[in-house]
Amino acid sequence: MKIAFFSTQPYDKDYFERHNTRHEILFFEARLNEQTTNLARGCNAVCAFVNDQLNAAVLNTLKEMGIKIIAQRCAGFNNVDVVAASRNDMAVVRVPAYSPHAVAEHALALIMTLNRKTHKAYNRVREGNFSLDRLTGFDLYGKTVGVIGTGKIGECFARIMHGLGCTVIAFDIIINKELEAFGVKYSSLREVLERSNIVSLHCPLTEQTRHLINKGTLEIMKTGAMLINTSRGALVDTVAVINALKNGKLGYLGLDVYEQEEKLFFHDLNENIIADDTLVRLLGFPNVLITSHQGFLTDEALTQIAMETLQSLTDFEEHKPLKNKVSLPLTPSK
Ligand code: NAD
Repeated sequence: MKIAFFSTQPYDKDYFERHNTRHEILFFEARLNEQTTNLARGCNAVCAFVNDQLNAAVLNTLKEMGIKIIAQRCAGFNNVDVVAASRNDMAVVRVPAYSPHAVAEHALALIMTLNRKTHKAYNRVREGNFSLDRLTGFDLYGKTVGVIGTGKIGECFARIMHGLGCTVIAFDIIINKELEAFGVKYSSLREVLERSNIVSLHCPLTEQTRHLINKGTLEIMKTGAMLINTSRGALVDTVAVINALKNGKLGYLGLDVYEQEEKLFFHDLNENIIADDTLVRLLGFPNVLITSHQGFLTDEALTQIAMETLQSLTDFEEHKPLKNKVSLPLTPSK
C-alpha cells in the first residue's frame, strides 16, 4: 500500500523503516488536519498518531482522494470520528496492546520523581549543592493508590503498585476479575477518590470520562493527594486542577498528557514563546511534573507499534480479517 504517514518523529521513521518490507511510506512531519489533508493525495492508506485530527471533514476529503484505511499507530482513537469513517466505508485500525508496561512504568516514574524529587536532587548535586533541604518525600509502602480504568495499562500499574506494598483500589465500569482475585478492591469513583493518596488515570477519553477530574471530584480527593494522568489530557479539567494546586488541595500533579497538547508536545519549542498561559502556569508549580506524552516511548513498545500497524495494513491489502479494527458500536475494550 502507499501510506501517507503523518506527525512523523525521527523514532517513527527509524522503527517503521526497520520493520517495513512491502509498503511504500511517505513520511510527513505535518500533523493531519483540514489544512494538510492534501498531502495524502495519491496514497491509499493514512497512518496517524494521537494528535492528528480525523474529523468528518478530513475523513470526507480523504475518502474522495481514495484513502481506504486509517491506521492509528497508538491505542487511543478519540481523535478519529469513527462514525464518519464507517459512513465513508473506511476501515480504522489501531494498536490496542503494545507494551502496557511502558505506560504503567512511566506512571511510576512520574510518581517516584514527584515524591522523591530526584529531578531537583540531580540538578542540585551537579551544581555542588549537597543540601537535603526540601527534598523530603514519603514512603509509598502502605499508601492507598486509586486506579481509574483497569484495562491493560491500569492492570499493569495496579500490579506494580501492589508490588511496592501499596493498597490498591480501583474504579472501572467493567470489573477486571483477575485483578480482583489478585487483591485489588473495586469501589465507586467517589470512594476511590476519597481514600487514595495517589490517583492514577488509565481510562480512555470518552464523553463519559471528559473532565472526570474537575472542581467537584477534586474536592472529594484527600487534601495533599497526588494525581497522575498518563491517559488523555482532557480527562482532567486543567483550570480546576490549577485552582486545586493553588489552594493546596492537590499536593502533586504528574502529567504525561495535556488537554491542549496538540500544538506543543513532540516539538522542540526551546526558542519559542509559549502562548499557552495555562501550561505556563502549570510549569510554575514546584509540585508539578510534566512530560510530553512519552509513556509509550520504549524500544519494546515502538517495535510492537511498527510491526502491528504494518501487519494490519498488509492484512487489509490481502483482504484478511483485521484483528485490530475499531468497530461500531464502540464498547470499552478489556
Ligand atoms: P484499555 O481499553 O485496555 O483499558 C481502558 C479501561 O478503561 C477499560 O477497563 C475500560 O472498561 C475502562 N473505562 C472505560 N470507560 C470508563 C469510565 N467511564 N470510567 C472508568 N473506567 C472506564 O486501554 P489501555 O490500553 O489500558 O489504555 C488506557 C489509556 O491509556 C488509553 O485510552 C490511552 O488514552 C492511554 N495511553 C497513553 C499512552 C501514553 O503514551 N501516555 C500510551 C498508550 C495509551
